[in-house]
Amino acid sequence: MSETLELAQALIACKSITPDDAGCQDLLEQKLKDAGFNCRTLRENMYPTFNLLALACHDEQAKLDGDPEMIKAQHGPYDPSGIVITKPFTLFLGHTDVVAAGDMGAWSSDPFTPTIKDGMLYGRGAADMKGADAAMTVAMCNFVRKHPDFKGTIGLLVTSNEEGDAVGGVPFVAEWLKKEHLYPTYCVVGEPSSNQVFGDTIKIGRRGSMTAHITIHGTQGHVAYPDKIDNAAHKGARLVAALLEAKLDEGTPDFPPTSFNVTNFNSGVGAENIAPGSCEIMCNWRFNPLQTPLKLQKMVEKILERERIYATVRYVINGLPFISERDGALVQALSKAVQDHTGVIPDLNTLGGTSDGRFIAPLGAETLEFGLCNGTIHKVNECTKVEDLETLTKIYEQVLEQIHL
Ligand SMILES: [Zn+2]
Repeated sequence: MSETLELAQALIACKSITPDDAGCQDLLEQKLKDAGFNCRTLRENMYPTFNLLALACHDEQAKLDGDPEMIKAQHGPYDPSGIVITKPFTLFLGHTDVVAAGDMGAWSSDPFTPTIKDGMLYGRGAADMKGADAAMTVAMCNFVRKHPDFKGTIGLLVTSNEEGDAVGGVPFVAEWLKKEHLYPTYCVVGEPSSNQVFGDTIKIGRRGSMTAHITIHGTQGHVAYPDKIDNAAHKGARLVAALLEAKLDEGTPDFPPTSFNVTNFNSGVGAENIAPGSCEIMCNWRFNPLQTPLKLQKMVEKILERERIYATVRYVINGLPFISERDGALVQALSKAVQDHTGVIPDLNTLGGTSDGRFIAPLGAETLEFGLCNGTIHKVNECTKVEDLETLTKIYEQVLEQIHL
């Protein structure tokens, strides 16, 4: 059995429902330590989120010992555990948490008992993204063993709170990296990016996401006395209609047009003769770089004013859009590795939801996402092709060879 498959199975057997790591990171840490990586767990206060950061740097500078402050002064960024970060710095990014199994009875095998059937590995997290966690880890270990004199720094960051609210997760580690001046040059996010066939998609960026929690205020009353009421549901309907009609943009060559969706619409007390005095609307925009949160917020304010709707609005900015250059060194290396190992020419696009890459891209890293097929993620009977695990490992390893030899 391949090392990647074995590790993926061991990870699936840990019931790590977000933000519980359930021992996954210990499994990765053991392997990485054995290969010479310097590992540390980063946690924010008492949050249940665990983050494992493993780094290896085999340049001359790393062999220096002595006073950390002196090394910092002489050689720049310094990892307090004793690693001098040299460039280029490639960071693999993953998560060990998974979403809940959902309808347990609908699974053909236990979601937390890795099961192989007809060349497929079944289990919660097989595709999103314990398979890729295993592939990244094995690729990194193979690489440093084969090439002890590689240049620059390679690292792995895995969090246990990607599927949840990310509190204490990658945003926290990104701040820590900033504080320590450890800026990745490249970031490979192992999220399942492949769409129809393995290798068909590399995500070179992501749209931004903003949610609005809107409370519309009216006056509740008896429907038989229309002059005494101010129906909040009617105002909510008018607001939604106006938001749907608002012309935002046509998209860019790299991004689809900004999209708007109502996700919740609640009003009324359940009675047939009471006009509601308030209406709660939750809605979300997935936006491209032609928009900013402020621009979208101003558009909402304008509509509220024009329609004379009195409302309280709370915005949550879930992520800003980011895009990496199409001719960057990482995208070139990754595209070539994908083609060499799968024969598929990957499409470079920005479709899909947000990922933790949005917290690393602002550090200046060329950030890409590439991983397994996403057809079954978050579903019952989540699975991945067993052979893709091996191929993914080889692809990640080739990327390291391209950049660090
Ligand atoms: Zn994921």
